[in-house]
Amino acid sequence: MGTGIGIDYDKVGLKAGLEIHQQLDTRTKLFCKCPTTLRDNKDSTYSFIRYLRASKSEIGEVDRAAREEESYSRTFLYKAYDSTCLVENDEEPPGELNPEAIDIALEVALMLNMKVVDEIHTMRKIVIDGSNTCGFQRTALVATDGRLTTEEGGVRIDSLCLEEDAAQKIETTGNMVVYSLDRLGIPLVEISTAPDIRTPEQARKVAEQIGMILRSTGKVKRGLGTIRQDINISIEGGARVEIKGVQNLRLISEIVKNEILRQRKLMELKDELNNRGARVEHRIEDLSSIFKDTESKVINRAGGKVFGACLRGFAGILGTELQPGRRFGTELADFATKYGTGLIHTDELPAYGIDEAEIARMRSVFNASESDCVVIVAVAERAQGEKALRAVLNRAEAAMRGIPEETRRALPNGSSAYMRPLPGAARMYPETDVPPVEIDAQRLKAISSRLPETFEHRVTRYKQQFGLNDELATKVSRSSNFNLFELIVERYRGKGVSPTLVARTLTDTTVELMREGVELENLTEQHLIDIFRLLAEHAFAKEAIPDIMRLIASEPELSVERAIEEIGLRVSIRDVERFIEDTVALKRDFILEKGERAVGPLMGIVMAKYRGKVDGKEINRLLKTKVEQILKGESDK
Ligand SMILES: [Zn+2]
Repeated sequence: MGTGIGIDYDKVGLKAGLEIHQQLDTRTKLFCKCPTTLRDNKDSTYSFIRYLRASKSEIGEVDRAAREEESYSRTFLYKAYDSTCLVENDEEPPGELNPEAIDIALEVALMLNMKVVDEIHTMRKIVIDGSNTCGFQRTALVATDGRLTTEEGGVRIDSLCLEEDAAQKIETTGNMVVYSLDRLGIPLVEISTAPDIRTPEQARKVAEQIGMILRSTGKVKRGLGTIRQDINISIEGGARVEIKGVQNLRLISEIVKNEILRQRKLMELKDELNNRGARVEHRIEDLSSIFKDTESKVINRAGGKVFGACLRGFAGILGTELQPGRRFGTELADFATKYGTGLIHTDELPAYGIDEAEIARMRSVFNASESDCVVIVAVAERAQGEKALRAVLNRAEAAMRGIPEETRRALPNGSSAYMRPLPGAARMYPETDVPPVEIDAQRLKAISSRLPETFEHRVTRYKQQFGLNDELATKVSRSSNFNLFELIVERYRGKGVSPTLVARTLTDTTVELMREGVELENLTEQHLIDIFRLLAEHAFAKEAIPDIMRLIASEPELSVERAIEEIGLRVSIRDVERFIEDTVALKRDFILEKGERAVGPLMGIVMAKYRGKVDGKEINRLLKTKVEQILKGESDK
């Protein structure tokens, strides 16, 4: 049973699915020979402009998302480089599907236990935000019907597609959206799960597992922006919503929780509005004269025109919080933002330099009572103001019917903002420029014979082979250091270095040091190997490992040997032996009297000198040997 923020997830009827987009680390793009690296420098070699129109589908309908996008009448400017070609510009047809990308997609599909299609067909999927120069994205279904297991239950993987990445949005100024073409055409795999996810935590775990599988191929791009998660969410009585662009795995469960909150709150608002008999008036009034001498910078800066409308019975509703940092008013404002303006409403006034007299005059235009809410937009032109307000009024009216299905954009704090309506189904058309690719059994066999070890398999192996506990086996398997872990264990396990210590050092100790602010990126794999080599040679005691790592991180030019000396840890095992011999000689009578029980008290003397510098076990071993020699020597006499 799921808990958290007081919500029982079994009762909200959560159904969530993930769509994961991962860039592949191929040499060239999906349909041309351009490189797949993003440019640091976005100074374009040349640029060009396109206007996109919502085209009718083959059955004569214009998609609702496409229609809305067209209403913004945007212009798109594309930055092209010497590292992009005419394919990205949509001036030359695409080439064949990149075989390197197909192989990686097949590898991932096999690791997800999916059924691979016999023939890969490239399709066109309409995109309406200008992120592709041709007005559609090319996508090719590679496999279907996979499955993952989590503690909360199984999750089906519906499909794996090979896709071209979109152009990267650089900025929006007024009606102009600027895109950079370096990212357009980088191969992606898109993995879609069925809506089988039942709790926010399960959503995070599924994303984590898929991420692990992708990384284990060693053939996917790493770093910010190279993997993007979209989440489909619906709850009982709510609506299906798609939240796009989650870049941080840790945010996934937050996003799901916050969407549940939003939908539940919207259901409450709907009942409240209907109980109040609320009503949206579609009469838009020009309020510019009220504000002609206003002190409000927001209004003056916008261009001097103000338009308003009245939401009857909505008082207090716009100020209601739906998600962290977002009120119902913010939700409405998203619609005004689409037309390049903000929204101001009486729930939040006085504010923005708008005074009581202006508020009173606004209210009087609409004959608004205390239970009503007046909304205004400040704009330069009437047409812009009317479009923005109409979108806001439609959204307010929809709140009285329920929750709209929509596509939303993930925000960094785990909330989300309106993006566009959910696109309708059937937006796919065959891409006739790209020939289909047959997948023969030979190719699949070759790929399946060299599949990397799965995460689950590695965890089990680490437990059996190295005696790690479940928690540690999971941690080290998941870390990027697992290869290093195996190498160190292989070399020094036979010399007394415990696999558990190596695993702890590479996971927990590393995390603790990073939290302290230690710059661990200065530490090379060779440093870590040397630390365990010297530990195996008893050059220091294991308790000193964090100190050695700390010192090397701050002075990376030091060798591990030098670091040990600097910390004053360098103790030759010969010195220790000598000290033990001296001690034993001095306490000879005591040893003869106590026999083997003398080892304990003598340990105290030796440890007082070498604690933290030499492993206690090692001292104990040496001491026992020397004591035994004395006892044996005596009995031989
Ligand atoms: Zn190209």
